[in-house]
This record gives sequence, structure tokens and C-alpha cells, in this order.
Amino acid sequence: MTKKDKNTKNIIELVEVYLSLGTNVGDRLDNLRQAVSLISEFESCEIIKVSGVYETKPWGYTEQDDFYNLCICMQTELPPYELLNKCQQVEKELDRKRDFKWGPRTMDVDILLYGDLTNEDETLTIPHKHMHERAFVLYPLMDIDKDLIVKDKTIEEWCELLDDEEKESITLFSEKLNA
Ligand code: ATP
Ligand code: CA
Ligand code: CA
Repeated sequence: MTKKDKNTKNIIELVEVYLSLGTNVGDRLDNLRQAVSLISEFESCEIIKVSGVYETKPWGYTEQDDFYNLCICMQTELPPYELLNKCQQVEKELDRKRDFKWGPRTMDVDILLYGDLTNEDETLTIPHKHMHERAFVLYPLMDIDKDLIVKDKTIEEWCELLDDEEKESITLFSEKLNA
């Protein structure tokens, strides 16, 4: 996707990006609202769509409270590592503590997809390495674009492949974040 810069008339590349947000500490709905609001203020980014809000069982480490999750689709001019940095600033602003892997958190912001980029290092792996096996990612993405292709399958196909436990780990809390 491209657009013309207002001043220079140069063509700017816009990349379609998908983010996953999750929270299970404090006022979860307010945490999501604050995070989406901070993301909407990122320079050179425009939010195109926000999924419904889902209540989900914790994934990986199960001895903790349920999460609220959603996904965002946006267009950006920010390079991937800069975008990651900004996402991590949002986590910091919401007072994210890093106690242990997959533990409780006020806010987690992951980059799921960055256009058709594939990137594999510790700092940034795209597509996100677990996205296709998580109901809390796939169900919100179904709201945005069920035909989106990830790792050679559509979101809908990945959903169908989830096992029953994973499918039962999620319920729709609200169709709209600001309802
Ligand atoms: P998971 O990545 O399995 O969802 P997590 O979100 O709990 O686990 P964090 O502790 O939030 O993991 O992040 C650990 C590191 O993962 C971050 O420091 C970041 O550099 C790296 N990372 C790699 N790929 C991504 C990505 N696509 N989006 C966000 N962070 C990523
Ligand atoms: Ca995560
Ligand atoms: Ca993360």
C-alpha cells in the first residue's frame, strides 16, 4: 500500500500490521482502552480496525487470572524494530512488570504480522511464533479478516485446527472496546 506525502509528494510505503494486546492485572478493560489510545497516537500510524474484546484462559502458565485480549490492524510507516520499541513503551506506560515468562501482566503488546515480512531473531520474530496456535489471537483476528493468510493457511483454517481445550478457553466479552 502507498500514499503521497502532502508536502514532498513522495510516495510513502504503508505497511499493514497486526498487533495482539493482552492484560490480566488491574482494570483489564481500562488497560486495553489506555493501550489502544496510546497506540492510536503513534506517529506515522493509523488504526484501521480493532477487534472485539475476548476473555481468555491464561496460555502457557495457567495459575493466574483470566486475560482480556484483542487485536488491532493498522497501517504504518514505522520500521519493524521502531514499532516494537513503541509497543514496549506502551507496556512500560501501563506499568508492565516482567517477573517470569508468560506470567501476569498489566499489558502485553505483540507484533503478529508486519506486511509480508518474515524475520527471525530473539528481539523480533514475525510472524509471531505462537500466533497460529492461540485462540486469543485467532478469534480476534477472525473479527478483522478471517481470510488473512498466515503461514500458508487462513485465520479461519487455523481456528478450525485448534483443539477443544483451546477453543473453550475463550469467550467474547464485548464486540466493541468502547461500547
Ligand atoms: P510470547 O512472545 O510467547 O507471547 P510474551 O509476550 O510473554 O511471550 P515477553 O516477555 O512480552 O513475551 O517478550 C519477550 C521478548 O520477545 C521481547 O523482549 C521481544 O523482544 C521479543 N519478541 C520477539 N518477537 C516478538 C514479537 N513479534 N512481538 C513482540 N515481542 C517479540
Ligand atoms: Ca505475548
Ligand atoms: Ca510480548
